[in-house]
Amino acid sequence: MAKVAFIGLGRMGHGMAGRYLDNGFALAVWNRSKPKAEDLIARGARWAASPADAADGADAIVTMVADDGASRTVWLGADGAARTARPGTLAIECSTVSYGHALALSKELRGHGLIYIDSPVTGLPDAAAAGKLTLLVGAEPADLEKARPYLVPLAATIRHFGNVGSGTVYKLINNLMGAIQIAGIAEGLAIAEQAGLDIKLVLEAIETGVAASPQVIRHSKRMAARNFSGATFTAALRHKDAAYAVELAESLLSDAPLMGRAAVQAYDRAKAHAPDDDEGKMIEIVSRAK
Ligand code: NAP
Repeated sequence: MAKVAFIGLGRMGHGMAGRYLDNGFALAVWNRSKPKAEDLIARGARWAASPADAADGADAIVTMVADDGASRTVWLGADGAARTARPGTLAIECSTVSYGHALALSKELRGHGLIYIDSPVTGLPDAAAAGKLTLLVGAEPADLEKARPYLVPLAATIRHFGNVGSGTVYKLINNLMGAIQIAGIAEGLAIAEQAGLDIKLVLEAIETGVAASPQVIRHSKRMAARNFSGATFTAALRHKDAAYAVELAESLLSDAPLMGRAAVQAYDRAKAHAPDDDEGKMIEIVSRAK
């Protein structure tokens, strides 16, 4: 039976880890706080005392943690997965990390003899639990084929962008565009409210108009209703992704990113306001009347 070590059982990782149990893999799990693992343990997962313990004997190690710092800790820290992983083990980083981190981590892990794949994801936690994510992969083609059996349980779609790091480049583009759209819709709705427009009509017009995207439609309804229940993506995570994307843009473009920097500033404020709440709370900041 193929053995997977899964590290990071937050909103996304918990459902993703469960997919390996659903599909008959032997699963070892580690999370910084153990309670999130309890139901997976009850379903047959082995609780590991550390990322290193999880990685011991694994064929593939999959990580889904918050950011560069968390990724560095779980892979390369004193009890990190790299300490025990056997040469030839697949190292699949699904967290959204910076481009620089993805390249540096790949180099480090290859130095340990591991096969590194960057595979950030799109899709909300319900898609993670249902195995319906889209994986944005950067990998050598032969490495992707080795990793495919461990990716298929997670995904409805696997998009291979090119070499290591390229999946992360696209993920950062995607989430920067999302940050700009969500900050934009908050501002647009706030103007509509203060100008006294019929918000039901405004929502109908948004949904059927040219500025709509699935993200804009979903967030405009939640923002108009001030319904931020069941937060799926937080202000802190969106801020992190936009900041990583701007860092990448600044390394590639001389005059950009104008919009990106504005989005990072907007999410600086949203993060200060309610870091762990739904990113749509942006509207609470921008809708204050004069
Ligand atoms: P989350 O619920 O906040 O979970 C974050 C995970 O990272 C938790 O397991 C947390 O452990 C762990 N963590 C944080 N800091 C750590 C550290 N210093 N050392 C070790 N572990 C640490 O976030 P999420 O929504 O699952 O997101 C996880 C990743 O997926 C992020 O990179 C995010 O950008 C990306 N993503 C999220 C979504 C979404 O819709 N939520 C969609 C696509 C991609 P604890 O449980 O102990 O706090």
